[in-house]
Amino acid sequence: MRSISILGATGSVGEQTLDLVRRNSGDWNVVALTANSNVEGLAKAAREFGARIAVVADERRLGELRDALAGTGIEAAAGRAALCEAASRPVDITVAAIVGCAGLGPVMAAIEQGGTIALANKEALVSAGEVMTAAVAKHGATLLPVDSEHNAIFQCLQGGRIEDVRSITLTASGGPLRTVADLSAVTPEQAIAHPNWDMGAKISVDSATMFNKGLELIEAHHLFPIDLERIRIVVHPQSVIHSMVEYRDGSTLAQLGPSDMRVPIASCLAWPARMDTPMAPLDLPAIGEMTFFAPDEVRFPATKLAREAAEAGGAAPAMLNAANEVAVAAFLTRKIAFSRIAVVVESVLQQGDLPNAPRTLEEVMRVDEDARIRATHLLEPA
Ligand code: NDP
Repeated sequence: MRSISILGATGSVGEQTLDLVRRNSGDWNVVALTANSNVEGLAKAAREFGARIAVVADERRLGELRDALAGTGIEAAAGRAALCEAASRPVDITVAAIVGCAGLGPVMAAIEQGGTIALANKEALVSAGEVMTAAVAKHGATLLPVDSEHNAIFQCLQGGRIEDVRSITLTASGGPLRTVADLSAVTPEQAIAHPNWDMGAKISVDSATMFNKGLELIEAHHLFPIDLERIRIVVHPQSVIHSMVEYRDGSTLAQLGPSDMRVPIASCLAWPARMDTPMAPLDLPAIGEMTFFAPDEVRFPATKLAREAAEAGGAAPAMLNAANEVAVAAFLTRKIAFSRIAVVVESVLQQGDLPNAPRTLEEVMRVDEDARIRATHLLEPA
């Protein structure tokens, strides 16, 4: 039996992780499950999997959670401190699947217990960058990438040496709006209707703006020690190749598979072994053709902004991430137009007085807060 905690258990990645645990239930002992406010989903999962503790971030929901778990012996807790406490309980693997920088504190708490972290929560790594990678090294933790692109690269690097890598290519589907002519009138419903992947609302909008690929560029830079200019992005609408590694002898290794997050999640859960998933065999004749395009950074400037933020370093990536989170939330609640998301992010980054490079978790959180205030000001009509 291996022990597992899932941070963000009620989300898209969280539920797909639980699906794999359910299919192999004899192998897993579930310790902590967390959610933001979805008490019903959290309690249901905690009961089904016999979790030791269930935590809801929204403290106002504690009473409801306690009622829903009454008589089960499962601990109920609420609030940010409780999230971090639950994340710090020793387990064999923690799946970090909270969306946004809100997941950073719990991820850092999990890293400090020195185990294996399967990281889906890219915003945490983008914001905390060196602070997180230093904590991983200090506490002897292992970071396994859940993001399908980074998981693909991780797999293509097995048996290879990073010093032999010439380039890394992140593939991007291009999202649902790649061929839509007028981006100004795009609705949240259109933006979250991803052609290939079924994901949470925030990452779906990020895929539509291409900020998802921008965040992934920064994520890749932290996960794999290779220069930014050797990390490339190519649009591949079929999402069959999940990313590629090119070696200096001219060999390029790619990882292929269905657009189903259970594949990279399973790769992390079983690593370095493999486990069964319910995936049908890859049917290349049915796929027929694979196409590739250069990203259009005029219509979708997000990857350019992310590359610039990564090159600037310091506080810029955390500012980019926080401004994007604010702008995406405003778009989803119909306060701003789709095309304003990149404008808000760019405007925050162009303000001349960016904070200093954060060196601690607390400093990252202050930079994040600062950028949220700046971005929120930009949402208000002039
Ligand atoms: P979802 O929105 O589906 O789920 C997010 C999870 O985080 C839910 O459990 C939610 O709880 C919880 N949560 C949200 N806000 C907070 C908060 N403030 N404090 C604590 N918990 C919170 O997101 P996804 O599963 O789509 O994405 C999760 C992460 O994985 C993201 O970083 C995303 O970029 C990354 N990722 C996702 C992929 C996917 O296919 N979905 C693919 C690759 C990466 P509640 O249900 O109560 O709101």
